[in-house]
Amino acid sequence: MEEVIVIGAGLAGSECALSLAKHGIKVKLYEMKPQKMSPAHHNTNFCELVCSNTFKNTSLDFATGLLKEELMVLDSEVLKSAKACAVSAGDALAVDRLKFSEDVTNKLKNNKNIEIINKEVTKIDLTKPTIIATGPLTSDSLAKEIEKITGEQLYFYDALAPIVDYESVDISKAFLGDRFNPDSKDYINCPLTKEEYTNFWQELTKAERVKLKDFEQEKNFEGCLPVEVMAKRDFDVLRCGPMKPFKQKDKNEMPFAILQLRKENELGTMYNMVGFQTNLTYPEQKRVFSLVPALKNVKFLRYGAMHRNSFINAPKFLTSTFSLKNHPNIFIAGQLSGVEGYVESVASGLLCSIFMLQYMGIMQKNRLSINTALGALCNYLVSASEHNFQPMHINWGLIAPIDAPKSVKKQEMVKRALTEIKEFKKVWIS
Ligand SMILES: Cc1cc2nc3c(=O)[nH]c(=O)nc-3n(C[C@H](O)[C@H](O)[C@H](O)COP(=O)(O)OP(=O)(O)OC[C@H]3O[C@@H](n4cnc5c(N)ncnc54)[C@H](O)[C@@H]3O)c2cc1C
Repeated sequence: MEEVIVIGAGLAGSECALSLAKHGIKVKLYEMKPQKMSPAHHNTNFCELVCSNTFKNTSLDFATGLLKEELMVLDSEVLKSAKACAVSAGDALAVDRLKFSEDVTNKLKNNKNIEIINKEVTKIDLTKPTIIATGPLTSDSLAKEIEKITGEQLYFYDALAPIVDYESVDISKAFLGDRFNPDSKDYINCPLTKEEYTNFWQELTKAERVKLKDFEQEKNFEGCLPVEVMAKRDFDVLRCGPMKPFKQKDKNEMPFAILQLRKENELGTMYNMVGFQTNLTYPEQKRVFSLVPALKNVKFLRYGAMHRNSFINAPKFLTSTFSLKNHPNIFIAGQLSGVEGYVESVASGLLCSIFMLQYMGIMQKNRLSINTALGALCNYLVSASEHNFQPMHINWGLIAPIDAPKSVKKQEMVKRALTEIKEFKKVWIS
């Protein structure tokens, strides 16, 4: 029986292993947990959601809804577990994270084609069919090994925003509403005058940052820049971004800037500083952010922090089937391949299993076009610019447009995509 090595039992690796096993492949699944935990993983089960518990919207008005629908057509085991462990969250697919990981772990452990090896992988055997799905927090030794194979650094950084205690916000110096809906009460807006903003901006740009010891160079993800990095670019950058001002309902004067707070939990006891991901030292976060009048005495429940987000320069190193250009038997799946997000990681795990089966001659060679969300993700990885490659969420902009009236455009794109996926599945199972 053919054998494939899958490294990492996260969202991508779990999906990939289950899909390969379903097609009769023997899988050796390596996972370093529980012996070694990344800074974000805490649960001993596999397929752990490290941050939010949502797989985003299920509505077919959203590209992420279409991606999930396509994955269901292709029988995604991880998504089936997510649906089985769903908690109510409107149109979003949110899950009970513990039940979800347990469900996927049981599927992996009970599958006779999957052998689980709890061990950190530090070397890649370049002669064996292998899928590397070790995620954005790939262990250092393996990251170095991948860098040796590709000859390029893998590290980038994402940052987390602070969370504050609602009770400590001075509501008399703030107002409720959001930029797009003045009647909404979802955001607490903390306004600043020109003088207050100028002082805040000056302090922010010279505040002390945490030194990154492990690596010489900080490489930020453009979509998630630390607020102090944005501020240093220009005086007005924040006012055109996370601090963009708007008028309070029934008031005439326009604040010079606004810092927004968004509910972090159902109870409304914790609020997130929107777009304020940061790598300032904790005392500096307290000092600088308290210069916003409504936050003068604010209590921080969690300070902002930076975390690593490793990914490969996909357009440079990967083929359209996620294998390394100079090692066609080595595939990269999940966030490490340059997709961004839980659902996208599951999707790339499923795609990698299909491409591995095609590579092994077990499945007929067949590709998905950019009429589908899955094909569009593959296309992005190989067609994006290699000079400033950034991981990407699925979005309508990646999928081929359709010639149809605006009012039915998305509906038609969904219909076209699902027809194509169903055709693809016929070849897949033959
Ligand atoms: C802190 C953080 C928060 C995030 N929050 C969100 C969010 O809220 N929503 C969202 O959609 N996306 C989020 N992401 C992005 C991404 O969707 C998730 O990281 C997702 O889990 C990626 O899936 P994956 O399968 O690629 O990696 P993972 O799910 O991280 O799985 C990788 C697995 O590989 C194992 N591993 C690592 N190195 C080795 C090794 N050398 N040998 C053996 N095993 C190894 C790890 O222990 C882990 O189990 C976040 C990322 C980070 C880092």
